[in-house]
Amino acid sequence: MSPIRSCIACKSRKNKEDLFRIVANIDKEAIIDRKQNINSRGIYICKNKECIEKLKKAINKNKIKLKIDINNHSILEVLEELGEEIWEN
Ligand SMILES: [Zn+2]
Repeated sequence: MSPIRSCIACKSRKNKEDLFRIVANIDKEAIIDRKQNINSRGIYICKNKECIEKLKKAINKNKIKLKIDINNHSILEVLEELGEEIWEN
């Protein structure tokens, strides 16, 4: 059984491989942790447009605490990339 994590946007709890994992590197730049094995605190988000848009809005309005030290601009870029990926699938 795989570990359960919560989506940062909608708070629903899912198997961690059903969520995207985003971590911050040493320069506080957001990176997508595809293999979910980077030894760093991460945030999880559902693989759907709604949650990605919700998180983007919350960051833009400064309405969310991400709990990890991460550059807002870089996480917005990563979310943009993930959003496009979802469209393509
Ligand atoms: Zn979600």
